[in-house]
Amino acid sequence: MSDIRLHLFQTGTLGCRRQDIYLNQGLGEPYEIPVPWYLITHPRGHVVIDGGFPGICATDPQAHWGPIADVFVPRMQAGQDCAAQMRAAGFDPADVRTVLLSHLHLDHTGAIGMFPNARHVVQRAALDYALAPDWFCAGAFVRADFDRPNLDWCLLDEAWGDFFDLYGDGAITCIRSPGHTVGHQSFLVRSGIGATLLAIDAADTMDHWEHRALPGAVTSVTDAVRSVAKLRAVADRAQARVIPGHDPDLWPTLAQHPAFY
Ligand SMILES: [Zn+2]
Repeated sequence: MSDIRLHLFQTGTLGCRRQDIYLNQGLGEPYEIPVPWYLITHPRGHVVIDGGFPGICATDPQAHWGPIADVFVPRMQAGQDCAAQMRAAGFDPADVRTVLLSHLHLDHTGAIGMFPNARHVVQRAALDYALAPDWFCAGAFVRADFDRPNLDWCLLDEAWGDFFDLYGDGAITCIRSPGHTVGHQSFLVRSGIGATLLAIDAADTMDHWEHRALPGAVTSVTDAVRSVAKLRAVADRAQARVIPGHDPDLWPTLAQHPAFY
């Protein structure tokens, strides 16, 4: 595992409201969350997890997102998109073999299509739901990001089980964790310096992980709570550090690129 490294990156922040993260709390109160993405170097090919906002969000988010950009406000600089950050860090997007998508909300899909040699791995249920979402969360999907011709998809479903070992070596495992949205998945990464559980939006903040609050953006609160229970058991067994999806207090304390886990 010594040549496997987990790098933490961020494409700016997302302005939202506190109730989007904490159920029924702080109605209308502005809240700002980091928008992480992750790069894992692996001998069988680099892996990108999610990818944050697309580059156009730095200049004209309304043009790409439409009116939802006035509700969820992306804040990023030019050159902060996933592919640009990779190049600046000395990585070639052509070397990315796999893009793992936790789910298809607009703050996770901006890098889809930027990696010419990559297979895109997502739960089939997540893609199905993103193509036909319920009314209350339809605004969180930007179809142009993921409904692209010639994308190489790997769609995971029940036949693959709850745990999918990407390269068959235990380094990167996809874990079904629905509730935040239908078909959400989280990731367990075993790198040279131990295990890390990337909860992604199964737990936006440590308050969700530690049972101090319920998440505000969900398709099923019950599924979300049960997914946290499952992920806590996985993290316990793997002795993993836990990184929640959008914790504005914890994220700045983590080792960002060029440091790595
Ligand atoms: Zn989400």
